[in-house]
Amino acid sequence: MMRAARPRQFRPFTASRRTLLRAAALLPTLGWGGRAPAVARATVRRIVVVGGGYGGATAARYAALWGGQAVHVTLVEREEAFVSCPLSNLVLGGSRSIADMTVGYSALAKRGVRIVHDTALAVDAQRGRVSLARGAALAYDRLILSPGIDFFFDRINGLAGDAARAIFLHAWHAGPQTVALRRQIEAMPDGGVFAICIPRAPYRCPPGPYERACQVAWYFKRAKPRSKVLILDGNEDVQSKKALFENAWADDYRGIVEYRPDHVLTDVDASTMTARFETADDVKADVFNVIPPHGAGAIARAAGVITANDQWCEVDFRTFESISVPGVHVLGDSIQVAPLMPKSGHMANQQAKVAAAAVVAALAGRPVNPAPVLNNTCYSFISDREAVHIASVHRYDATQRTFLTVPGSGGVSAAKSVREGEYGFAWARSIWADMLS
Ligand SMILES: Cc1cc2nc3c(=O)[nH]c(=O)nc-3n(C[C@H](O)[C@H](O)[C@H](O)COP(=O)(O)OP(=O)(O)OC[C@H]3O[C@@H](n4cnc5c(N)ncnc54)[C@H](O)[C@@H]3O)c2cc1C
Repeated sequence: MMRAARPRQFRPFTASRRTLLRAAALLPTLGWGGRAPAVARATVRRIVVVGGGYGGATAARYAALWGGQAVHVTLVEREEAFVSCPLSNLVLGGSRSIADMTVGYSALAKRGVRIVHDTALAVDAQRGRVSLARGAALAYDRLILSPGIDFFFDRINGLAGDAARAIFLHAWHAGPQTVALRRQIEAMPDGGVFAICIPRAPYRCPPGPYERACQVAWYFKRAKPRSKVLILDGNEDVQSKKALFENAWADDYRGIVEYRPDHVLTDVDASTMTARFETADDVKADVFNVIPPHGAGAIARAAGVITANDQWCEVDFRTFESISVPGVHVLGDSIQVAPLMPKSGHMANQQAKVAAAAVVAALAGRPVNPAPVLNNTCYSFISDREAVHIASVHRYDATQRTFLTVPGSGGVSAAKSVREGEYGFAWARSIWADMLS
């Protein structure tokens, strides 16, 4: 039985020293003496942040912290509580509940961030206003958008209607879909087939689908050992932690997981539970987990900041300000990433700090950090307790005006381990505290 989601709250001033040290370790290198800018002017300036996920909640918290009395920060988030995508694959494996990864917004509100639970519908950049579905429009001096992703359902035949979408779940926004997909997996017969369809890169969380395959296989091994996990990848090869995942499929999940590259999904048919592909043969399964192609969240389109391939938002990487609409900053999964920069929660958290510092500096008339540095660490769980990681460091290159990975930085685990699993759970607790406490 799945426990009901009950938001946990972090108490801002009771965090342990260890938690604070871990949170500090998540800070991007500030680069100009290690001090965040303080706003110098007396006028209170308005910062509106849309999206209270990994990027937006972090940006709101740090803009309020670094802006102090000189700024007023409002966070617009349509959901009542934050539900983490990282760790949510463990819900599909059955070792964690969705409540374990749900955190409320009240501690952030106590930090002085005004939380508005509403949906941002449009942006009037000329007048500096964001209109909302229910409440009055919000005026801003600077706007930060971190709306995550929205799906292009119409690019897959058969997926246009609500009925089909209730069968072919994505669970690529953690929450009700994650719980519903777990129920579908539990209801499968022993000997059934679970198929996961991965879109072409770049997509949200490069290793996420392969971690998901491991989690479902971990469950099958215990509960339905004759069942199969088919990975139908729209790409030509495994996109992240390739050797580590391949080892897991060959050793831990031999006979359960099968990987098939070059499966670009074109059609789904609910009446026969069949998927069709650009070139590969049709596939039938008992449960299809379809991750449709996706792009920047809808509010980015409404704001006119989608500039790359009608899909992602290009930004000035020193400030994360849109290249098309001045005063509007975009971060997280919505942006057109720099080379080898993953669309990850850790990366969104890092980008948010650069954006918050730049916004506070700009409002105070101070120069921004000319050379920000970001890091990324991503844990993937192979079983309920064992994990592997990948890490990288990305430095802004003024000549090429993009982030480049620092030579020799980062790397991947040698092998899965329980110790890395403990680090993975600690990473999650630390980053949630860094965003929401
Ligand atoms: C299964 C899975 C596993 C993952 N595992 C990892 C991992 O281990 N490590 C890692 O670093 N990353 C991981 N990721 C990726 C990570 O979840 C994303 O990269 C991260 O959430 C991006 O942050 P974001 O702020 O761009 O978007 P989100 O975190 O999705 O936040 C967007 C927020 O904006 C809100 N919103 C959107 N539009 C509006 C609007 N118009 N008005 C009001 N609110 C709005 C949404 O409700 C949402 O809360 C995983 C993803 C998945 C799906």
